[in-house]
Amino acid sequence: MRTPAARARRQAGLARGTLAHSASECLLTLEAGRIKACPGERCGWIFLDESPNNRRRWCSMATCGNRDKARRHYARRKAG
Ligand SMILES: [Zn+2]
Repeated sequence: MRTPAARARRQAGLARGTLAHSASECLLTLEAGRIKACPGERCGWIFLDESPNNRRRWCSMATCGNRDKARRHYARRKAG
């Protein structure tokens, strides 16, 4: 026989299951190598790569990404 209390318990169990699922999803994200260290000079920031294809390289394109681009540009000018 189903009582309202039994239904409430079942719903509470479902809610817990959802929480556990998102927690394991979070762990999977960590395991997928999406935690990266920025290779920028004097940076070494740890960031989470949230790009769809996991190709992000810099902690921020506006700072480290740009600095590297400028440095390579300068090196090319010096060489040529
Ligand atoms: Zn950086």
